[in-house]
Amino acid sequence: MSFANRIGDEWRAGATTRPNINPSDTTEVVGDYAQGSALDVADAVAAAREAFPAWSRSAPMDRHAILMRASSEVAARTEELATLLAREEGKTLADARGEVGRAAQILAFFAAEAVRLMGETGPSIRPGVTVEVTREPLGVVGVITPWNFPIAIPAWKIAPALAYGNCVVFKPADLVPACAWALVDILIRAGLPPGVLNLVMGPGSQVGQALVTARGVDAVTFTGSVGTGRGIAAACVAGTPMKKVQLEMGGKNPLLVLDDADLDVAVRAALDGAFFQTGQRCTASSRLIVTDGIHDRFVAALTEGMAGLIVGHALDPATRIGPVADAGQLATDLSYIEKGRAEGARLVTGGEILNRPTPGHYLSPALFTDASNTMTIAREEIFGPVACVIRVRDYDEGLTVANDTDFGLSAGICTTSLKHATHFRRNVEAGMVMINLPTAGVDPHVPFGGRKGSSYGPREQGSHARDFYTTVKTGYIG
Ligand code: NAD
Repeated sequence: MSFANRIGDEWRAGATTRPNINPSDTTEVVGDYAQGSALDVADAVAAAREAFPAWSRSAPMDRHAILMRASSEVAARTEELATLLAREEGKTLADARGEVGRAAQILAFFAAEAVRLMGETGPSIRPGVTVEVTREPLGVVGVITPWNFPIAIPAWKIAPALAYGNCVVFKPADLVPACAWALVDILIRAGLPPGVLNLVMGPGSQVGQALVTARGVDAVTFTGSVGTGRGIAAACVAGTPMKKVQLEMGGKNPLLVLDDADLDVAVRAALDGAFFQTGQRCTASSRLIVTDGIHDRFVAALTEGMAGLIVGHALDPATRIGPVADAGQLATDLSYIEKGRAEGARLVTGGEILNRPTPGHYLSPALFTDASNTMTIAREEIFGPVACVIRVRDYDEGLTVANDTDFGLSAGICTTSLKHATHFRRNVEAGMVMINLPTAGVDPHVPFGGRKGSSYGPREQGSHARDFYTTVKTGYIG
């Protein structure tokens, strides 16, 4: 079946289509998706510009109603959408259900945000003059998303953009257009006027590039890798007019395990953080920093826990770890595993290609010990089921190692010491900090984002999202 782009009030076929391949069974085509062109982007931007004056002045309660209808439909279709998600991306059905549920929650949260947006008013320093601070939508927002959360990330960008009165041109990841298409279809049928939400699928180098350089786009929100993000930010400020830009990028997230940690809690946090969702999370704990006194017990228990992680087809209920998302990512994972070995880390378990009844990109979760924080596997984001254990003397050295990275998205500590937990929370250089919890797994109603190479610009999610999707106006009334 073929799926078209959405431009203005029409579903428009692309010049070509791209098959969406199931990574659990590469003989299965999930669907054929239109490949858009620079011309399609130009038309989508024009349609969004035309829709903006009316949409930006629409009644907040109408925007609320549309987003709520979309939320209800996503929730009602959880099983079907989760199956689609698991088929196109490879995360397990249970994880996919969680992600679809999250998309529904996000749509509901921002539905309420639409009617929660209020300004401030107060006296000027000049007698008889009043000051009023209000927020206005930006205009047309370009939304560019990665492949690892095919429905939740599009939802957490599109929902606030629409709630605050912006129009959207959405370019999903080429690898996973099915959930993106379904979400757009749901939002359109929920009552969005023509042109308010447009979808142009296709490669980043063409469709994405056309979007970030389009004159009619006022802002770009991007989630993906650092290299792509850097180029997008440069393009956004190089053009006229300059575009507001928000980047959410990679991570090399540390989980610090101290001698006084509850071993079960630490092992559970490491298994989840490092390997669930095949390690393909920006918040994955790829650096396990472990103090001397617990190191050997932790490695033994973690290795035992990993032996119980069943790798298999995403739709098999027994599967805990689905396949790697595609052949390119699998090759990347294998090359990092080779680099880890070559640089002197010890591969304790995993890192092998697995054969399953269906042809897919199956890789056993890999754990390195004897790693140092200077090795490539400890410095660069791998984005696969690969973690390394770095042994440290004590908490102080652990914190130093945790902060010695170009990234700063999420960081975790496992300890029963209030002193160390508190000190870590205050001193670790990350946007999100987890105490006795996995580094991955966040709430939808609070800010999400990081520091250094992980994030650039205002935070996403929760009410803080308005800092990106609106612009502030200060009025003086004499
Ligand atoms: P990617 O950078 O390759 O692609 C992301 C998106 O950008 C895709 O839609 C792609 O088509 C598009 N793109 C590529 N080149 C472009 C260009 N020149 N101009 C405009 N758009 C372009 O990333 P990916 O491989 O899809 O996703 C994995 C990355 O995403 C990892 O680094 C991961 O950490 C990151 N990620 C970050 C977060 C977060 O919130 N911090 C969440 C999920 C994933």
